[in-house]
Amino acid sequence: LLQAPLLSRSNSTEASLAKDNSSNDVKNGQGYKGHSMLAPFTAGWQSSDLHPLIIEKSEGSYVYDINGKKYLDALAGLWATSLGGSEPRLVDAAVAQLKKLPFYHSFWNRTTLPSLDLAKELLEMFTARKMGKAFFVNSGSEANDTQVKLVWYYNNALGRPDKKKFIARAKSYHGSTLIAASLSGLPALHQKFDLPAPFVLHTDCPHYWRYHLPGETEEEFSTRLANNLEQLILKEGPETIAAFIAEPVMGAGGVIPPPSTYFEKVQAVVKKYDILFIADEVICAFGRLGTMFGCDKYNIKPDLVSLAKALSSAYLPIGAVLVSPEISEVIHDQSNKLGSFSHGFTYSGHPAACAVAIEALKIYKERNIVDQVNKIAPRFQDGIKAFSDSPIIGEIRGTGLILGTEFTDNKSPNDPFPPEWGIGAYFGAQCEKHGMLVRVAGDNIMMSPPYIISPGEVEELISIYGKALKETEKKVQ
Ligand code: PLP
Repeated sequence: LLQAPLLSRSNSTEASLAKDNSSNDVKNGQGYKGHSMLAPFTAGWQSSDLHPLIIEKSEGSYVYDINGKKYLDALAGLWATSLGGSEPRLVDAAVAQLKKLPFYHSFWNRTTLPSLDLAKELLEMFTARKMGKAFFVNSGSEANDTQVKLVWYYNNALGRPDKKKFIARAKSYHGSTLIAASLSGLPALHQKFDLPAPFVLHTDCPHYWRYHLPGETEEEFSTRLANNLEQLILKEGPETIAAFIAEPVMGAGGVIPPPSTYFEKVQAVVKKYDILFIADEVICAFGRLGTMFGCDKYNIKPDLVSLAKALSSAYLPIGAVLVSPEISEVIHDQSNKLGSFSHGFTYSGHPAACAVAIEALKIYKERNIVDQVNKIAPRFQDGIKAFSDSPIIGEIRGTGLILGTEFTDNKSPNDPFPPEWGIGAYFGAQCEKHGMLVRVAGDNIMMSPPYIISPGEVEELISIYGKALKETEKKVQ
């Protein structure tokens, strides 16, 4: 095997051609080397040779960089722009609301129509079980932070002050604020941040391919994981465990759909010990999996739900927490006793963000977005999974419009390529070269295109993936 060198944007031809021209320096990104932004989830931009890829414009399933280069946006921004990058109705909804009432808050029994209407709409749309109230936040991380506060408030109100621990799963991603990062099961989120917080426990990642025992079926694997969860609960004391949080399909951890019978079994365990179930639907909600919510797909009956991203197709930041009637009633009573429910953000229920979200939900319904996803998803899934035979691919996994590829040697989860070879990064760079943006995390590649992706664009996505794969295979011989 040869070492696969990492491609860097700084040594691309276009960059070196423009070296002596300062206005072009800005145009091609060279002028932004060592820029002023402390960029999220980024290393190297601030001090090294690398300059950022600067995206300037979007149109349908595509984005354009400042040189006018066009990319198929195979991750929909960050699993988010479900309706693509140029939906005029979302823009019009934002503009109309900004002209009428750009801002008013929702504290102290004052609020706005868009927030009231959106809350009502969300409760009607979520049918996996009846929900009681919607609380608005600005992001997925804030949604999950809010979940923890709500659950603690609830258990304190019920006189269960010891029932405070949370169980999340290894490789989960729940956001990057203090609490959301603690819930997340990705070591990078914890390292040097003094996390996770001590009230968070992590149980097994439900990744069958990677973690099943020899001869173990998917169902047996799910049974074992549910047993391990129960053992963890018993070891800690069920009276100390407040809630279990799970993404229906794990996203940033590498796109990991649950093994067969997994959610049925873990739900039975948490129910047995009076532990709340929180569904983190930040990626899965609103059609991504070919059902309106991930809970519909896996028959999950959650007590609490986190939403964000496709809620507004990411045109404006907004998230929401759906709260069961039982929990909202307890919170309501407790707040009355205390004189206030003292939690909320200036921008909770921001009217412009709510107006955009209402329009997005309207579009999902009018266009039968679930049918649309189910029409386009099989070719997306089959077209990429047809590359599974590649000697450098360990597993391709996904459902609906979400897919992960994991590069390993010998098709084995136990033979990773040396990280310094940068196989995933090389593949990602080849995609970028051919005009497609994917998410790279080590040797995991993730894709979640916008729901509006056309059949022709799916073919383009498959073709670029194939070219990038061939080039990556050549590097690893
Ligand atoms: N939960 C899940 C499942 C996510 O995938 C993400 C973000 O990718 C979050 C929470 C955090 O959302 P945000 O980045 O909006 O804070």
